Amino acid sequence: MIEVRKAINMRELAEIIFKDVTKSVQDYIEQYPDRNLDETQIVSRYAPSPTGFQHIGGIFAALVAQRIATQSGGVCFLRIEDTDQKREVDGAISDTIDTMHKYGIDFNEGMVDDVTSKGNYGPYKQSERKQIYHAFAKELVAKGLAYPCFATPEELDELRQQQVEQKITPGYYGKFAVYRNLSEQEAIQKIQQNIPYIIRLKSNGNPDKRVNFHDLIKGDISFPENNQDIVIIKGDGLPTYHFAHAVDDALMHTTHVTRGEEWLSSLPIHIQLFDMLGFKRPEFAHIPTIMKLEGNSKRKLSKRKDAESAVTYYEEQGYPVICVIEYLLNIINSSYEQWREQNSDCYKFNIELDKMSKSGALFDIVKLEDVSKEIISKMSADEMYDLYTKWAKQYDPQMYDLVTQNEKGIKMFFGIDKGTAKPRKDFAKWSDVKDKIVYLFDEFFDTEQENALANEKEIEILTKYIKVYNHNFANQEEWFNHLKDFAIGIGYCANRKEYKNNKDAYKGMVSDVATVIRVALTHRTNTPDLFVIMQILGEKKVKERLKKFATS
Ligand code: GLU
Repeated sequence: MIEVRKAINMRELAEIIFKDVTKSVQDYIEQYPDRNLDETQIVSRYAPSPTGFQHIGGIFAALVAQRIATQSGGVCFLRIEDTDQKREVDGAISDTIDTMHKYGIDFNEGMVDDVTSKGNYGPYKQSERKQIYHAFAKELVAKGLAYPCFATPEELDELRQQQVEQKITPGYYGKFAVYRNLSEQEAIQKIQQNIPYIIRLKSNGNPDKRVNFHDLIKGDISFPENNQDIVIIKGDGLPTYHFAHAVDDALMHTTHVTRGEEWLSSLPIHIQLFDMLGFKRPEFAHIPTIMKLEGNSKRKLSKRKDAESAVTYYEEQGYPVICVIEYLLNIINSSYEQWREQNSDCYKFNIELDKMSKSGALFDIVKLEDVSKEIISKMSADEMYDLYTKWAKQYDPQMYDLVTQNEKGIKMFFGIDKGTAKPRKDFAKWSDVKDKIVYLFDEFFDTEQENALANEKEIEILTKYIKVYNHNFANQEEWFNHLKDFAIGIGYCANRKEYKNNKDAYKGMVSDVATVIRVALTHRTNTPDLFVIMQILGEKKVKERLKKFATS
């Protein structure tokens, strides 16, 4: 009899708290039926908060979620977790979608811009799901599994202080959770007196017992059960992350929750929520945090301290999107590199969660540069030209103008050594290009500080070379043979050994002559194929530069 009375009281309390709730839990369960997928098909999601900052870790997490779903023929959706409205930034959702799209990550379902979505399991923005959360919270209150808590911030502070002083686990739990045992009548009275409250879970966990689970990345893990009466609905009526994600992932039929490892320690709460709500637990995979090496120690890539934490950094620097993705795939599974040697489309790589690093994922710009150089070295000259000019148009308009006015020459330059066994690996990003090609343009070349004035030997080489200079050789070999003959003719040696044994008989080596010409034409001792550079410059400019250097 008492129990029946109690149940009636709990239902009444739930009705009073959630008087605006019109649909039942059952209604929602029916509204979002099982997906028409078999059990090998994964449903995953990327669930960012719209803070307006795209962290490279976001691409990393989204890539993992999207890959595991796509490679299983499943579904990956985009859910916006905007229950912390203080952190929200206008336009952040579209920005997330555009950024992900640029990196080849598209979602089958979910938000498609700031306000619209596609798919049958929406709304996909948590702020629009308040009614749903309330229906589930109401059910918990009605079952005595959640309760209104009227503790003021001051009371909570005081409690915390006492707990810290007594060196006991801080929080709202057990005997400290005073409103947990308020009778329904007392609670209703307080609500009627308009005393503010939040809704807490009535935890049934015992920290002396352990909860064991298998994380798809971290492996077997065991934690004490949660006994904290965590908040599920805040004072503003919005749910906490814990509660919202459990309701969402259950109704959206997420099979795999992939998310940052900062959530790992909350997992006992989440498992408890799934259980108390009567939901099937999804699989969890906690993705390692992106770390960076500083000195000898690793630390989290920080939004404040590290420019490379922002996705925009890679765009501004001009790392081709594909290079960043391939680099991230390398971090996800170290077997990627080997796979890539036999395959070309990185989006076909099947990632394996259990092969991911269990500790932090080390982000290393030097390694990114290596990956990137490798990929750019394999691009065709046309592809490089297209990507470079697209980048330069936005980030270096002066270079854009110069390069587009010299399309043929720049393509020749980008084409140097292409298709050979050892293509040049000069560029890791488009902002590297300028420094390597500026000398092709008088605008820069003429204003460059020359290292030293030409000495007598150099003047002799250049004045004589101008006289015999022939611009019409068919290839590098013919041109070089001519240069060699010229050098020998004016007293230079073509054979290193011979030169070493007989230094006084020569003015130097043929390579010294080539270097003088290279420096005169480019102001650099090291450049790609000089023959091609001369072709790009054209006969007139070559002669002008040789002359100018000889008379400098
Ligand atoms: N909104 C959470 C975050 O941005 C996502 C966690 C999750 O994927 O469940 O960290």
